[in-house]
Amino acid sequence: MGTMRYFSASTIHPVTTPAVSHHVLVVEEDGTIVDLVPEQEVDATKVEHLEGDLIPGFINTHCHLELSHLKGRFEEKTGLPDFLNKVVAQRAAAAQEVQEAMQTADSEMWDNGIVAVGDICNKYDSFAVKAGSRIHYHSMVELLAFHPERTAGAMEQGNSLLQQLSELGLSGSIVPHAPYSVSPALLEQITAQCADSGVPTSIHMMESNDETEFFVQGTGLYRRLYHNMGMDIDFFEPSGKTSLATLLPFLHPKARTLLVHNTIATAADVVHAVEQHANLWWCFCPNANLYIEDRLPDIPQLMRAIPEGRITLGTDSLASNHQLSVWSEIQIVLQRFPELKLVDVLPWATLNGARYLGIDHLFGSLEKGKRPGIVLLSESTIQRII
Ligand SMILES: [Zn+2]
Repeated sequence: MGTMRYFSASTIHPVTTPAVSHHVLVVEEDGTIVDLVPEQEVDATKVEHLEGDLIPGFINTHCHLELSHLKGRFEEKTGLPDFLNKVVAQRAAAAQEVQEAMQTADSEMWDNGIVAVGDICNKYDSFAVKAGSRIHYHSMVELLAFHPERTAGAMEQGNSLLQQLSELGLSGSIVPHAPYSVSPALLEQITAQCADSGVPTSIHMMESNDETEFFVQGTGLYRRLYHNMGMDIDFFEPSGKTSLATLLPFLHPKARTLLVHNTIATAADVVHAVEQHANLWWCFCPNANLYIEDRLPDIPQLMRAIPEGRITLGTDSLASNHQLSVWSEIQIVLQRFPELKLVDVLPWATLNGARYLGIDHLFGSLEKGKRPGIVLLSESTIQRII
């Protein structure tokens, strides 16, 4: 063992055990946690004292690094269908601009204390940045194919991107985009493959009332979106149920599945879903919800219905956020829902995300043997210690 470092702080949050004061976190030079001991057990002259909350590095379970160059490009609060239209119409840009924006976003996340990211990608553009990053990325290759006839083609495309990821030594899985952009057949194939390989998958879910209207009645903005794109969706039969209730039967029950956004979800939706699928995880991206839809999920109500340990946080992309900072997501949750405290939300931002991504042997808590990154929160500023 090399040189040790000894940190004390106003409060230390191991996350897996209750927060403590008057303790010292013993850490190897490379950031591996050695121990957490009462302060009287350590020679006081060796201890670096920090003011604030000492926590493990953040896990961002939902991001789109590929869209980083769209920062500040779109007007806020115009609704999701309009937002999607703009992303499709305006995401093309010079390769160098895209690469530089991703590089900057990656450094920004590192500085904001993020150690691991579940990152949605539609092409290979982000792979080089990820291969060179200090952040651990799990790439989620996102598939869209609403017409059932396009299922095989979408799977083939996704698996060829997965192959490229694995050649670069990067971890990845395939994920469906959203209820209104994948067929039940594609959903079944994607989640069966993820269940087989034991990797996480995710889907944008229950983002707007337009989504519900489309599934219940087959009408509204999504119907128009397809019409405007010149796509024939006569095969689509509205189910009379919400998007989540409609699609749950097609999700492989063993696939670790992150439902992203849940903006309009109710506690009843959660209870019903959890009864049918034992491996659901729930991601909130509050700043992006405010940016796009100008509303937030009823987080305290949903929290009571979601099983312990299954909530995570995500930043979404810079197309719909002013920064990529899990800390900023926590702050908005605490501001808007004062009944919630830092200790309630901290597991969402660290341990739960690490478990969902399958990297909790290294990340997510200040436990012996892990190298989770160490972050100091003080008076709403954030500082990366290791
Ligand atoms: Zn997203």
